[in-house]
Amino acid sequence: MELQGTDTNYSMNSTDITFVETKCLFCAESSDKLLYPMKLEKTDFNAYAFSARRKRKREHYRILVCEKCGLVRSDPVIEKEQLDLLYGESQFIYSEEAPFAAETYLQLLQEKVIPYIEGDLKNKTLLEIGCGNGFFLENALELEINDVTGIEPSRSCYENASGKVKKNIINDVFRVETFQGKKFDMICSFHVLDHVPDPKQTLADVMELLSPGGCVLLACHDVESWSVKLMKDHTPIFDIEHIYLFSKNTLSRLMSEAGFEVVEVSSYTNTYPLGYWLRMMPVVSGLVQFLPKSLKNIPLPVKAGNIYAVGKKPCRRKYS
Ligand SMILES: [Zn+2]
Repeated sequence: MELQGTDTNYSMNSTDITFVETKCLFCAESSDKLLYPMKLEKTDFNAYAFSARRKRKREHYRILVCEKCGLVRSDPVIEKEQLDLLYGESQFIYSEEAPFAAETYLQLLQEKVIPYIEGDLKNKTLLEIGCGNGFFLENALELEINDVTGIEPSRSCYENASGKVKKNIINDVFRVETFQGKKFDMICSFHVLDHVPDPKQTLADVMELLSPGGCVLLACHDVESWSVKLMKDHTPIFDIEHIYLFSKNTLSRLMSEAGFEVVEVSSYTNTYPLGYWLRMMPVVSGLVQFLPKSLKNIPLPVKAGNIYAVGKKPCRRKYS
């Protein structure tokens, strides 16, 4: 299987796309209710659609909710091998917003994780899953965490990493085996969990890679936020990139079933330039080009429907 096209717009040959069913992560026999019918074409499977912070087209899979547990998911979705190809070719297009995101994520790390990490930060290890061009890792280095590693499937993002962090980034799909037994004190992943086909496996992998007493910090969309209630399937949360969509409840349950002590699950505020917020909103995004640059660049903090979760790997394994 290969992607076709130019450097900037690889697309999947639409006759080759394979869809697979998804299942509720919690219920052996889920009771599925249709939230929204599928709104996409096979031609939507191109590298641009799988690039972070692209212009939204509002394409999404069929969206189901399990009435037993409340978990929301896309179904059916593109199979993993093809998905990995798309992320491998996805484009680096978020240089303007990256410093703002880095600031938000750094604050979460400092306020919500570091207080739980015992000992000198200099001797601690940090892994970021889905690190993009390493914008967050650069900030983590400034906290004097000397041993930082990122893993990122997109070749374009990797190539856009700065000289400060490029050597710390592994350009590949996340797999436990890549780390050859290395353990980390902190593992972070921002807006990745709702993109992975098997979040249970991802959390099991995180558990394996954490040192006892180590912490995971996750951020993802909140499927129960005000913006989803207001904009329904016009919100960017229902998107070709998203497979499982979490709420505070379902994210907390996922973590505790994976064996983490759930320290905190809550919503957080993002600060981005006004122009970015407007571009993310389907109704007004076309008007952004008419705004003067001074207005577009005003930083604006908004609780936009994102949640974070902190989990701790128990120091001792529980035997039952
Ligand atoms: Zn369920």
